[in-house]
Amino acid sequence: MAVSVFNTRRRTSLVSAFMARTRMFISTPLPQVRDKVSRTKPPKPHGGGGERRRKKQPQEAAARAGGGMGGSSASPCDLDREFAPQIAQLLATPPLQPAQEYYNGLIQSRKHDGIRVNFSSKHGKGVCANKEFAEGDLILKDQILVGAQHSLNKIDCAVCSYCFRFIGSIEFQIGRRLYWQSVGSSSDCTNRRHCHESDVGSSASSSGATKENSSTLPEEVLGSLITGDMSLPFTDHFSLPQVVPCRGCEEERYCSQSCADSDWETYHSLLCTGSKTEPSQRSALQKFIEHANGSNDIFLVAAKAITFTLLRYKKLKTQPEFQNNTDESNFSLLMEAWKPLSMGYKKRWWDSVALPEDVDSCDEDTFRQQIRDLALTSLQLLKDAIFDSDGLVVASPVEDYFIHIDDLPDDEKEEAEKVTRPFLDALGEDYAAPCEGTAFFPLQSCMNHSCCPNAKAYKRDEDTDGNAVIIALEPIKKDDEITISYIDEDVSYEERQAELADYGFICTCPRCQEEKPN
Ligand SMILES: [Zn+2]
Ligand SMILES: [Zn+2]
Ligand SMILES: [Zn+2]
Repeated sequence: MAVSVFNTRRRTSLVSAFMARTRMFISTPLPQVRDKVSRTKPPKPHGGGGERRRKKQPQEAAARAGGGMGGSSASPCDLDREFAPQIAQLLATPPLQPAQEYYNGLIQSRKHDGIRVNFSSKHGKGVCANKEFAEGDLILKDQILVGAQHSLNKIDCAVCSYCFRFIGSIEFQIGRRLYWQSVGSSSDCTNRRHCHESDVGSSASSSGATKENSSTLPEEVLGSLITGDMSLPFTDHFSLPQVVPCRGCEEERYCSQSCADSDWETYHSLLCTGSKTEPSQRSALQKFIEHANGSNDIFLVAAKAITFTLLRYKKLKTQPEFQNNTDESNFSLLMEAWKPLSMGYKKRWWDSVALPEDVDSCDEDTFRQQIRDLALTSLQLLKDAIFDSDGLVVASPVEDYFIHIDDLPDDEKEEAEKVTRPFLDALGEDYAAPCEGTAFFPLQSCMNHSCCPNAKAYKRDEDTDGNAVIIALEPIKKDDEITISYIDEDVSYEERQAELADYGFICTCPRCQEEKPN
């Protein structure tokens, strides 16, 4: 299989996580973008029609930006005052030995014997090679700890809610996307989707939705694509896993029963808006989700971090040695449940978001107070829902499909395009939209940056889920440090340092030392 070499742009996405009356904060590096440069040039749809329909959410720019170090912090609120010691413990850097033990255990359990996590006083955490790697070798496939697809991306891509693999069929992917495209503006569409995602299959042909977009395809056609009654040529080369619905709601879908079960056990049983959930809790959850979709979908990832911790806590609590019910022992149990997330870089979201360009620096305090209030509102809504009782990108198979059609011998291509061309045209320029989201990868996030890295995050053709894949860019010797670039490294020294300032450090890699002006 060919390796697609691409220009990874690894951005900091900050996740604030909240819990009960205590707050936790984690930050997450966004993993990888599959660049299509090395792939066959895809066919162009006729007549454009690819107008970008996504609107930026008000706080999205701020939330996606890197961590602005040195930003002032919002003044403390009641929670800060009441739970200062607990918050400090949750935000603290874990002590060296437990951290080393945690990473050793993680590497062992996942059988990543080619690497080890090292700690140094100078650079903190880093990843070293335990063996030699040749150029192009797979170094690591890092599984997501907590992650979520962006809300608006759900319109473009139907993926497994647990592993982020594309699901259904090429017909299903194309049909539901064109259906949503025809339903109306993206914001209406987002709201509709969250109430009526399940209707896609059944109501595609009967919906009275207004047509606004360029799609000229009849709704009956889209409906039969979605239901599988109509098939497109050559799609059998691109079979996708069958859709497995959530046992409770109709919002989440999976590629397999095992993903459905894992999601339920790890996060979703506390976030499901389906029939298995109490009606009052269900409406509280819906309010929380609506607020997140309308303000910043980073709160959905935060909610997953919280439910991940709570469900681990519940599980630990059933063990006989933890039956002791004092506040102190409960808190230490909570710390144990929080451990996998505690290993990451943690900072309050509203303190670490970089100031957006359109906000004047004299308004910084107001800005930080505002986004903190937004986060507190989200926390309150989540609390109402669950306390009654950490860049993710997957390339679209739809793109591979259209490339395949384009590469067919002329006569076959002509025949196939009679069927496929209207769909490609209706999809427009964005027909290949990948699955995008935010995720925290426990091992990839330990890798240090270099502007002349020896490894890179790739998506190879066979990497069809949300895992982060790290590949050697050059031969790596045993005990060498493995580095990746957090930024686009093909820019000047000054630009690189400016981008890296968002990560809170000045790069002194060999290339920077050489290029540094005296
Ligand atoms: Zn899956
Ligand atoms: Zn559900
Ligand atoms: Zn550098």
